[in-house]
Amino acid sequence: MKFADIIIPLAVEGVFTYAVPVALEEKVGEGKLVIVSFAGNKKYTGVVWRIHEKQPVGYKVKNIEAVTDDRLQLSGVHLQFLFWMAEYYMAYPGEVLRAALPVVFRLESFTAVTLGDTEIDFDDLTDNGQALLRFLRPGQYVAMREIEKYLGIKNGMGLVKSMLDKGYIQIKETIDEIFREKTEKWILWARPYAEEELSGILDALRRASGQYKMLCRWIEAGKEQMEKQHFLKQSGGSAAILKSLCEKNILKIEERKVSRLGEDKAGEQQANPLSLQQESAIKQIRDYFTSKDCVLLRGVTSSGKTEVYIHLIREYISRGKQVLYMLPEIALTVQIIRRLRRVFGDTIGIYHSGMPDNIRAELWKKQSGPKPYPVILGVRSSLFLPFQKLGLVIVDEEHDPSYKQKEPAPRYHGRDAAIMLANLCGAKVLLGSATPSFESYYNTKTGKYGYVQLTSRYGDIRMPELLLADLAEYRRKKLMKGVFSPVLIQEMQRTLNEGNQIILFQNRRGYSTYLQCDCCGSILKCSHCDVSMTYYKQRDLLSCRYCGSIKRNVSLCTECGKGHYRQKTPGTERVEEEVAALFPDARIARMDLEVMSSKAKYHRVIHDFEEGKTNILVGTQMVSKGLDFANVKLVGVIDADSMVNFPDFRSEERAYCMLMQVGGRSGRKGEQGKVIVQTADPDNRVYRMVMNGDYDVFYTEIAAEREQFVYPPFCRLIQVELRHKEVVVVRNAVNLLVGRLRVELGRRVWGPAVPEVSKIGEMHRVQLLIKIEYKVSLSRIKSFLKEELSALQSDKGFTGLRVYCDVDPQN
Ligand code: ADP
Ligand code: ZN
Repeated sequence: MKFADIIIPLAVEGVFTYAVPVALEEKVGEGKLVIVSFAGNKKYTGVVWRIHEKQPVGYKVKNIEAVTDDRLQLSGVHLQFLFWMAEYYMAYPGEVLRAALPVVFRLESFTAVTLGDTEIDFDDLTDNGQALLRFLRPGQYVAMREIEKYLGIKNGMGLVKSMLDKGYIQIKETIDEIFREKTEKWILWARPYAEEELSGILDALRRASGQYKMLCRWIEAGKEQMEKQHFLKQSGGSAAILKSLCEKNILKIEERKVSRLGEDKAGEQQANPLSLQQESAIKQIRDYFTSKDCVLLRGVTSSGKTEVYIHLIREYISRGKQVLYMLPEIALTVQIIRRLRRVFGDTIGIYHSGMPDNIRAELWKKQSGPKPYPVILGVRSSLFLPFQKLGLVIVDEEHDPSYKQKEPAPRYHGRDAAIMLANLCGAKVLLGSATPSFESYYNTKTGKYGYVQLTSRYGDIRMPELLLADLAEYRRKKLMKGVFSPVLIQEMQRTLNEGNQIILFQNRRGYSTYLQCDCCGSILKCSHCDVSMTYYKQRDLLSCRYCGSIKRNVSLCTECGKGHYRQKTPGTERVEEEVAALFPDARIARMDLEVMSSKAKYHRVIHDFEEGKTNILVGTQMVSKGLDFANVKLVGVIDADSMVNFPDFRSEERAYCMLMQVGGRSGRKGEQGKVIVQTADPDNRVYRMVMNGDYDVFYTEIAAEREQFVYPPFCRLIQVELRHKEVVVVRNAVNLLVGRLRVELGRRVWGPAVPEVSKIGEMHRVQLLIKIEYKVSLSRIKSFLKEELSALQSDKGFTGLRVYCDVDPQN
């Protein structure tokens, strides 16, 4: 007898053993997707981890019920990667599986109901019971959710159970196939017809003029087959007419499977020839790859890192290898796709969570099939795709905190996981950035990574000129116009006069529009979370960025009942409004989270700005990264201080990167550009270092402090968060935990502290931080921590306590 250890896609510890029925022995293999029942009768799609012959003892082993799709199989390396991720980021293997598999592969069962054999005594029933039994038909199963919808009730399980006890109904667990191949309908002759036969048919049709006309069109077209909709349009006839022709067995309709991914066409252009500087960089990268697995490419903004990537990709493809090209955000893929397509045509697969699930599923199948795409472009989730011969992973903008997954688990870092994946596949990693993360830069200093630089912009264009606008002084002199300083306005006017474009950057962190009472000064907060609600002017509503709850039509203050709420602080919308008032003739576009929620919208925003249809682009983080616009000559940072003063040990690093990045959008082609940074604190060392522009000076100064106070990259961090509905429970739990952890870990345990947002969705939060030096075994500390956390959770006094672990947290 064979047994299989299976990963179930749920937040449960470990793997589960099932028996492999003889009938399935041929089909069940390691990495196969199988259907098993788990926790009662519920069925799930799990993945086979190991096959063995060791009979588990102490419980009755259930059988594997089916194999979902013969063609789908995760490779050994793929499985190893999923397990590594679960282990390293303290997540359950099932949580990683949930993140990895497209939803359509993760079939889950639901309960379906039909009539039973027992004769029904209707007098004995409630109204809902009677309605249910009248709704059901013998032998036909109806899904639970249909029943609930029909009866207008939330949970029909109780009702169904009582009917089941009486024998009035039967139930079963069943599964819908949700992945559907895309199909097209094609029209053909039902059989070959001789010419004289056809005239007979046409004669017979003369009275049915619609059919007669349609058949004439079909004959005129002279095709053997045509796509249905195409033909209907051309012939001007209706589907009903076509149906009659098919019923008469003259024509027939065939359904054919088609790919959603389109054809693999080759690219039409050669890659640009490299400059001397780029040529030398690529040579150094190649050299490093003979002895090191990972190389950091630091190239100032617009030095042509992307061109270097394109050349490397071409080299790897020509050797029959696959390349994964990672970016931190979907918005960035728009421009890069176009640059890659020019050279590589349609042989690039694109993968991110914003795309329809059926397309993701097809890409999965393609990548595990005989003709996978050689290049995949995607955000962090593309790491989960199957790779057959991965040779190179490029992590562009590697410093970007968006690479870190925050919610839900696994809370993994796209860059670090990429390095692990490459390691398992025997592939190389190229990290690229103008402002590397301290972690990566540190690794070049220790010799772990190779280090290559591009020190000047492509075409030797000068780096933009940087100016600080002292907001404190302008405010004192009452020279501010809304959020704009006179220098910024003046430069904007000049840039517009010269026919060039402007980017205005408004940091999103801590700076969204909120409402404040003009009488008592209280801020309108979410009713479930300890956070101010964000006001969206165009939709006239408030929304909580944590729990998503929405409020409308608030004007009177709920605290004092006297004052009225007023809009406060400049979000992107308000910046946009003020610009419009200052420059009524300029065309302005906005790029922020709201715009990003629609693919069509952000494609248009990027496109219009590229084409020069808009003059000013106002945006958050998204406009700061990687985008390449030729005519931007001015970048204005509306409020830099909110970044610098964010309470986190990384805030200066983040602010520095952000300012260098967003400045990097200015003057990429032609003449030198300008950057104006508005600040009320111009003496702050971050601005001094940004003005100086030397990354090494910046790194040396800040890293020295990190080393002294022991922060990454000189140690590792694990953040532990506890949540509970009762503030007392969460406090008691955390105090107990800290005490227990300190016994073993001593001063490595920091906290507890209440985070800035102290409550999310009615749950009170506390956090603690564990600092781990490199010489200490991380896995030992993790398993100790896990034990303590599960002891805490099984403590009766803390029922309902939730724990979250974040390894290498990023704020
Ligand atoms: P980075 O990724 O370092 O910010 P890009 O690769 O976007 O830089 O290059 C900046 C600009 O210079 C782009 O418009 C790009 O097309 C152009 N460029 C860079 N290298 C070359 C090259 N070798 N030939 C032609 N154009 C180049
Ligand atoms: Zn909320």
